[in-house]
Amino acid sequence: MNEEMTTNQQELPLVVGVDLGGTQIRTAVLQGPKLRSRVSIPTGENPAPERVIPRIFAAIQRALDEAGVTLAQIAGIGVATPGPLNNQTGVIYSPPNLPGWNSVPLRDIFQRNYNLPIFIENDANAAGLGEYMFGAGRGSKDMIYLTISTGIGGGIIIDGKIIEGASGTAGELGHMTIDMHAGRCTCGNIGCLEYLASGTAIARYANQAIVEGQGAELLAFANTMLENPTTVPDQAALPTEDPNTRPLDEQDDLGGKVGPLRVNARTVARAAEAGIPLARAILTRAAEALGVGLVNIIHIFNPDIIILGGGVTLVGPMLMEPALRIVQERTMKAPLEVVRIKPAQFGINVGLVGAGALIYYHMHSI
Ligand SMILES: [Zn+2]
Repeated sequence: MNEEMTTNQQELPLVVGVDLGGTQIRTAVLQGPKLRSRVSIPTGENPAPERVIPRIFAAIQRALDEAGVTLAQIAGIGVATPGPLNNQTGVIYSPPNLPGWNSVPLRDIFQRNYNLPIFIENDANAAGLGEYMFGAGRGSKDMIYLTISTGIGGGIIIDGKIIEGASGTAGELGHMTIDMHAGRCTCGNIGCLEYLASGTAIARYANQAIVEGQGAELLAFANTMLENPTTVPDQAALPTEDPNTRPLDEQDDLGGKVGPLRVNARTVARAAEAGIPLARAILTRAAEALGVGLVNIIHIFNPDIIILGGGVTLVGPMLMEPALRIVQERTMKAPLEVVRIKPAQFGINVGLVGAGALIYYHMHSI
C-alpha cells in the first residue's frame, strides 16, 4: 500500500487542511504532503468561536486563491484542532488552548458553509496520521506519534487505524503517570509525562531552581541574553520578563514564587549548549522522564516505530541521549529489538499535512 502511495502522490485529489492552534491558525491547499499554498494568521487575543470561525473561512479562501484553485476542485476539508473532541460528531469540548470553545459543533458549522466532506480530528492524532501516511512513519504498521512542546500529545495508529477510544480521547500519552509522587499536572493527575518532560516542565524546573537560589549561573546567562538580544539567534529563547517589573514574592501560575526573571525551555536549551551544569541537569531530568514514557509506550503497544515531534525534540542529543539510554536499559528485549525511534519529518507543517491526510484516510483515496 505504501509503495503505491509514494508513486501515486501526484494523482491524489487536492484537499484543504486547517491547523487550528491556540496561537496560530494555518490553512493550506495540499496534494498529499505537498503544500500548494499556505496561510498563517494569529488566533488572536480573544479566540471565541464566533470571532475565530469566520477568520478560518477567510483563511481557507486565501489558501484557495493563493493556490489558484476553487472549491469545486477540492475533495474535502480536514481540520486538526486541540482536543478533547468527538471526531464522529465533530463537536469540540472546552480545549484548554481555546478558551470560550464549549461544545462547539465545528463540523456542522463547516458543513453549513461548504458542500464538501469535512473531517475534524484531535491535532496530535492528525499529525500522527500525516507522518504515518506521508512522513517518517511511511511503511510502518504500528506507529506511535509523540509530540513534545508546551504540552505532550500522542497519536496511536495500529494496523492503519487511528485509535480513538470509546469517547474519542485515546492517545493522551502525555498524561501517563511517570512519578506517582511528583506534582499535580494541569489534567488533574499526578506526575504525568507532560508534568515532567514538556517544555513547560523544563521551564518550571529552571525557574524553581532560580527562586531557590541554585540558578546563579543560569540567571547570569539569561541576563546576558536579555542585555544582548540581537546576538541571540533564537529570539524565542529570550527570557520574557523584565527583572524590574515584578516583585519577588508574587505567586506565579504554577504556584511557585516568581523569581527575578523567568526563563523558558529554549533559554534552558541554549544555556545547556553553553555548558551550564544546572541547565544540562534539567534537560537530563526531563529526558529521563521521557525515556521512562517511551519504555511504557513500547511495553504497551510493541510499535515498530515511535515518531517524536514538537519543539522540545529540536534540543537534539542532549535530550535524546539520556532518553534513549533509559529505553535501552529498561525495555524488554523482544519489543526493543523491533522498535525504531525517529524524528518527525514535517516540522511546523505537520498539522496541515495531518489535516489534509484526514480526507485521504476517511475517503480511502489511498
Ligand atoms: Zn496530566
